Amino acid sequence: MAEINNFIKTIMENDLREGKVDAIVTRFPPEPNAYLHIGHARAIITNFELAKAFNGTTNLRFDDTNPAKEDKEFVDGIIEDLAWLGYKPNNVFYGSDYFEKTYEKAILLIKKGLAYVDDLSQEEMSKYRGTLTEPGKNSPWRDRTIEENLKLFEEMKEGKYKDGEKTLRAKIDMSHPNINMRDPAMYRILHLNHHRQGTKWCIFPMYDFAHPLQDAFEGITHSLCSLEYDNHRILYDWFVEKCEMEHVPHQYEFGRLNITNTIMSKRYLRALVDAGKVSGYDDPRMPTLCGLRRKGFTPDAIRNFILGTGLSRINSTVEADTLDEELRQDLKLKALRPNAVINPLKVIIDNYPEGQVEWNEAPNNTENPELGSRKLSFSREVYIERDDFIEQKPNKNWKRLALGVEVRLMRAYFIKATSVEKDENGNIICVHATYDPDTKRSDFNDRKPNGNLHYVDAATAIPAEFRLLEPLMVDETEENKDLDFMERLNPNSLIISNGYVESFLADTKPLDHYQFIRNGYFVTDKDSTKDKLVFNRTCGLKSSFKK
Ligand code: ATP
Ligand code: MG
Repeated sequence: MAEINNFIKTIMENDLREGKVDAIVTRFPPEPNAYLHIGHARAIITNFELAKAFNGTTNLRFDDTNPAKEDKEFVDGIIEDLAWLGYKPNNVFYGSDYFEKTYEKAILLIKKGLAYVDDLSQEEMSKYRGTLTEPGKNSPWRDRTIEENLKLFEEMKEGKYKDGEKTLRAKIDMSHPNINMRDPAMYRILHLNHHRQGTKWCIFPMYDFAHPLQDAFEGITHSLCSLEYDNHRILYDWFVEKCEMEHVPHQYEFGRLNITNTIMSKRYLRALVDAGKVSGYDDPRMPTLCGLRRKGFTPDAIRNFILGTGLSRINSTVEADTLDEELRQDLKLKALRPNAVINPLKVIIDNYPEGQVEWNEAPNNTENPELGSRKLSFSREVYIERDDFIEQKPNKNWKRLALGVEVRLMRAYFIKATSVEKDENGNIICVHATYDPDTKRSDFNDRKPNGNLHYVDAATAIPAEFRLLEPLMVDETEENKDLDFMERLNPNSLIISNGYVESFLADTKPLDHYQFIRNGYFVTDKDSTKDKLVFNRTCGLKSSFKK
């Protein structure tokens, strides 16, 4: 696997060398309000791999300070996804576990004259805040006495006020050039049930106040976050200093990961689920980790993808195919390569004895002999891909079956198409052919076939559903660029095809990976049953693959 190497690693090396820190302690702080997506994988892998590189530790900390959107389902999903990626946190903490200690620090700031209770509404507060070019104005409640502030804050906690009626704010500078420093809110009132604290609290700390304190309580040395927190760093440092935290953590920002044609914001992913546009967070078209897993991506492919895209201080957009390529690299030598026919056309080999079935040896992975071999059956009726047959060979570039043309069925015989049967609409229902018994010998080279086709023997085939997945969003064009994302959904993002696989896949289990010969990488879906196997296509075989 690739090794992690980036500007934050250099910072850590220096901090250790100069004795600024004794050991590296990082954390991954997701808000449990949705499932994790591939963008989060960058944050996870960066935090865990950097700590690992220095024998340090990494905490998982649920940032659950906003009870409005958080849920146990998401907590469990996040734990499962991390484990699947192969990371075991040294500690699992919850931001809400620090509510008591955080509250005490708020009292400390009030006592130091650095925080006050404000009666302005949220709307008024934003009016008073000013803009990037104009300074803000002091709230009329800014000069309350320390005693009054202590009393009001206590009453806020006791539930005396309605949501939004009062706010605890830091007293910094309403004309600060950085708007985040213009008396940011520290606590707001929310009469809501919290997933862990129940109704014990009706005041909840804001992210900007809670997060630096949590980092300090846990002894985090390097607090890594994405670039949008850049201009919050000054406030992060202010809270750590003014709250007299014993341990002083430092924040470092990195660029966000974006992927072409991929929506990567929890808000949008949630909207897709809520609107029923996908079957759930684990719909294989979703860029969530559980969706990617169900689509057939492996932890190694994701890790190598994240490490391969590097890390810098700018947001980056990566081609979606880069992830596919990592999957191909990962599974090339690991996956079995059975035959599957996705869009079947029956071929009847008229000169092959009726009722006879022969079993031929076939390697499981032609590039990796260690994966052994299996028996592949052949009989009078086989399925080939509909695309592999045409009545009249159009030109010399046609390297598949046609009337009067001979091809090799891989690991079996040469066959030549002789006639077709059609339904009343002119659709081909089956092809008749003859085979040449001499052509099975591996050293047979008297004549060259017009191509090599995979097939599945109809006598032993197992029916299978193939879910062919395409991007959820259509490409952005001049015409659609202003449309809401819900109107840019690709109507063909899921195409279901019914075909066959060879018999040795009878015992396949969800998350088993395969390379179906000539058709791409597939994975067994959780909907698969003994009677009807279901496979999702992870990606095509070649990077230029585009239907
Ligand atoms: P979203 O923007 O999708 O709603 P978020 O940033 O609000 O995500 P959090 O649960 O707060 O989600 O994220 C946990 C961590 O993951 C944060 O440190 C955040 O910076 C990081 N993160 C989220 N999305 C990305 C991304 N696309 N690239 C890199 N890091 C990300
Ligand atoms: Mg966030």
